[in-house]
Amino acid sequence: MPFRHLPRRALGFFPTPIVELSRLSEYLGGPKILMKRDDQTGLALGGNKTRKLEFLIAEALRQNCDCVITAGAAQSNHCRQTAAAAAMVGLECHLVLGGTPPEQINGNLLLDELLGAQIHWTGADRKGEQLGAIASQLHAQGKRPYLIPYGGSNALGAVGFVAAMAELQQQLLDMEQSVDAIVFASSSGGTQAGLTVGQSLLAMDVELVGIRIDKDDKEQLSYNEQLAELATSTAQILQRSNCHFQPSDFRVETAYLGAGYGIVGELERSAINLVSQTEGILLDPVYTGRAMGGLLDLLQTRHFHPQQTVLFWHTGGLPALFEPALSLKRE
Ligand SMILES: *Cc1c(COP(=O)(O)O)cnc(C)c1O
Repeated sequence: MPFRHLPRRALGFFPTPIVELSRLSEYLGGPKILMKRDDQTGLALGGNKTRKLEFLIAEALRQNCDCVITAGAAQSNHCRQTAAAAAMVGLECHLVLGGTPPEQINGNLLLDELLGAQIHWTGADRKGEQLGAIASQLHAQGKRPYLIPYGGSNALGAVGFVAAMAELQQQLLDMEQSVDAIVFASSSGGTQAGLTVGQSLLAMDVELVGIRIDKDDKEQLSYNEQLAELATSTAQILQRSNCHFQPSDFRVETAYLGAGYGIVGELERSAINLVSQTEGILLDPVYTGRAMGGLLDLLQTRHFHPQQTVLFWHTGGLPALFEPALSLKRE
């Protein structure tokens, strides 16, 4: 495997299960739908960031750092899993969160506090703009911080999803099952970049479809350009420097952004209700609810044939179900 030379700290339960959503398929009239359960990675209620953190935390330990610092939204799943991983290996954790302290503390934020993370609120800077400055302050206090970018989406973090693709390939082989497409929520890009590099290095014949969750018009590069850069640098640390990715190598569906990041609309609401009531499986209001809504729409518009097999990658996020501001109730 191309990532075997990199240090890795076990943080979760892998491989995560693959289940078949036969009652959902039946309700929809096909196709066959599988689900990869990364909501069950096991790290303090699970999620896809556990995979990235296995490589990032190992590197923090290798560099002999004594704390980690990362950034996200108040309900960041990445921050909650980072806080848990840090606690697990005995590192202090600093979280740089957008917005201001809410009156009611719940969902992921409640778990951040339980896990002992120290929180720095940064108001309108919602994507870790102050990460470097706060890391410098920690340095000045004599600490040795390890900086993990927003969403854990650098090349080393994305390696977690190259490993995930190898895990999936072995599982499908054992199941004697082929998959035509993989559909997943795509936000800071590490998941999609890593899966794409994995697909390429492992020569897997499957279409990857990222459902865009948030759109940032301030960014200099388009999302597809960011994905190409991230995938190319991920291949580089895997010693595949001849492997270059282009923006057109990534399929990103941008039609499901609704009223914006973290704003629950009819798309998410009905997808969450349908999957919970046909399968007894929970989806989250911010990421997987939106991604499943996108998949259901792609199925409705006959993007996939009823004879095909589609795998939905459940990336986690369930603690946000307990944040009333993301309520699934209709107004
Ligand atoms: C972070 C996250 C994603 C998106 O993964 P990226 O690597 O940031 O694109 C999807 N689902 C959930 C639940 C997440 O927390």
